[in-house]
Amino acid sequence: MSIPPEVSVVYTAKDLAGGEKIFQRLNPPARLAIFGDPVAKSASPFIQNAALKECGINSQYVRVHVTAADLSESLAALLQADFLGCNLTMPHKLAALSLMHRVSKEANLMGAINTVAIRNGKFEGFNTDGPGFAAAIKEEFGVPLSSLRVLILGGAGGAGRAITVQCALEKCHSITIANRALEKGTALAEEIGNGLGNSVTAITFDQENLTKALESSDLVVNATPLGMKEGDPSPLCDLHLGKNHLVYDTVYNGGTTALITQARDAGSKSASGLSMLLHQGAKAFEIWFSKPAPLEAMRESLKKIAG
Ligand code: NAP
Repeated sequence: MSIPPEVSVVYTAKDLAGGEKIFQRLNPPARLAIFGDPVAKSASPFIQNAALKECGINSQYVRVHVTAADLSESLAALLQADFLGCNLTMPHKLAALSLMHRVSKEANLMGAINTVAIRNGKFEGFNTDGPGFAAAIKEEFGVPLSSLRVLILGGAGGAGRAITVQCALEKCHSITIANRALEKGTALAEEIGNGLGNSVTAITFDQENLTKALESSDLVVNATPLGMKEGDPSPLCDLHLGKNHLVYDTVYNGGTTALITQARDAGSKSASGLSMLLHQGAKAFEIWFSKPAPLEAMRESLKKIAG
């Protein structure tokens, strides 16, 4: 994914805390941001700025490099700078939970926040990764998530947990999470069992368990980082995929991952994480503006950078 130089400006926590009103003086003024460390490669400014333009909203969305140590101060600075809210990416999604005045039920279950709305001077935390994933599956494969038996690779990680909780909220036929650290998987399965009443099966990330799980799954989701770097192997190694499998790789790198190639070779339907990125962004826009997001304008903006 390539970021054109004219939209690659990265502001800092100091810019935000400086009180020099640099964000209000921009044309149009910045009223939304993404906080992360690193943040330079975030694609969110493209989709959100395309949406703001399409809707004629006189505001822009900027990247701000915020380290873990600066998160609390930077959120407070948003209030002074008249922002509507922000998105959060690594490493802030978990830490932000304790800094909110209110957290949505879904974000609490997902244990992470990716969208903050500022309302009446208070921070409200949401997680749009899970709902964005469900919308992506519907769009890519034409079936509701609820109708599927799902296997989530890396299901107890950050994105994996949001996806696992979303599958539980949607009452999927069955949910299996594969994690190298089994204790993380079993702890999440227990939490979901207690909180939502769903039965989630946790397995270790080994060939024998994955082979069995594949036999009883319709949808296979990669929520591990495998595929982000060029030359990464498929998380499934050379395990057998069938024509009946749907394969969703949450990785979006503008290219093709080894898992997507494996799925194509097996005749399985497959899709990359770009659609999840699009829909989580659309849902964040809807939280900030309480109106439908201009999905097609957002999609077009992603096409330009996805190559
Ligand atoms: P994370 O919190 O670090 O979680 C990574 C998970 O993958 C953990 O469960 C980890 O298991 C597992 N894992 C790591 N390396 C592995 C390997 N070599 N083999 C098997 N399992 C491995 O990361 P994250 O932030 O959730 O990101 C995960 C993926 O989601 C990334 O590819 C990211 O691009 C994608 N993502 C996509 C979107 C989107 O909108 N499309 C949004 C967010 C994230 P252990 O606990 O055993 O280490």
